Amino acid sequence: MATVNKQRLKNLLLELVQIDSVSRKEREVAERLRRELESLGATCRYDRAGERVGGNTGNLICRISATKPGLAPLLLCAHMDTVVPGEGVKPIVEGDIIRTDGSTVLGGDDKSGCAVICEAVRQLHEQNIPHGPIDVVFTICEEVGLLGAKNLELDLFEAREGLVFDSDSPGLLFVRAPGAQTLMFKVMGYEAHAGMAPERGISAIKVASEAIAAMRLGRVDDETTANLGVIQGGRAINIVPNEVVVRGEARSRNPEKLAAQVNHMIDCFKSAVARATITIDGKQVGATLDYSADAQYQAMNIPEDAPIVRKVIEAARRTGRAVNTAATGGGCDANIFNHRGLTVANLGTGMRDIHTVREWLDVKDMVATAEVTVELMKLQAGL
Ligand SMILES: [Zn+2]
Repeated sequence: MATVNKQRLKNLLLELVQIDSVSRKEREVAERLRRELESLGATCRYDRAGERVGGNTGNLICRISATKPGLAPLLLCAHMDTVVPGEGVKPIVEGDIIRTDGSTVLGGDDKSGCAVICEAVRQLHEQNIPHGPIDVVFTICEEVGLLGAKNLELDLFEAREGLVFDSDSPGLLFVRAPGAQTLMFKVMGYEAHAGMAPERGISAIKVASEAIAAMRLGRVDDETTANLGVIQGGRAINIVPNEVVVRGEARSRNPEKLAAQVNHMIDCFKSAVARATITIDGKQVGATLDYSADAQYQAMNIPEDAPIVRKVIEAARRTGRAVNTAATGGGCDANIFNHRGLTVANLGTGMRDIHTVREWLDVKDMVATAEVTVELMKLQAGL
């Protein structure tokens, strides 16, 4: 069984989290990862995704050539960008626990994944383990709409199955995830003086409120959720407001349920707006609605008996651990890969309390995932 070098893994993680890489500014960490993989014999290049999304680097694509012929290539992927506040990270180390000083996120999401991939590849190299071709992809802009994965140039690498390392528990392999749509509703009412002529106005805020009050939100069913997260509108307390903008989202692992929920939310606004009419000086005036619903990413649903799933479970068993398949409520690069025809599941790395300044991780979890990954590569090579 592989013996991962815990200290080296920890050191690389600590180095990576101290290189600033908020979305669209991943260049420096990309160059560091490129050096790491080139030192292991990989051939690295960037695609043009960075130009398309206005970032300072593209996705980093690295090929580690096979040392054993005739094997299918394996994809290993993690994202290089972090959420804010993510600049000037000062990690605090307490044994195997790494956290922040409370002023920034740690960026273990997803530098733990980047470090795990590097260490697993280094193990192959160091132990001279025969292996098939390995395509490592470090993506940009995951945190701002999976833009790196959406713009990834698939023809620059061969692997069509593998893993994304971008979730918390090393014991969980996410194979199902929801699709998501973002929604925007703009209700236009009719402006009037709130004290002298309220009957000559239509309150956009009141109309929107009626729509929202009639809406199914929160956990709609076991695979569907919906949320309205932002409301902006109104200019002064003595003006009947003529405009309000409401933004939200809907998610479901079932595409039909997602479409139904989105239609339900649109219908609630349409009927509240249709009811809001008044007559001014003999003329009928009504509220109006502008709205948009845009697909953010599609659901992923990898069968339990897919070869990559079975191999990860077997690899974990060989290391004396258990990895179980699971469903998540979030989206990640794997959603995009699966939608684009690849089979890519999401394995946890130990990142915890992500997207908060309380983010932390336990290096032992990263070791577990790195060991499972080495075993996976051995299984892939028929060892
Ligand atoms: Zn992530």
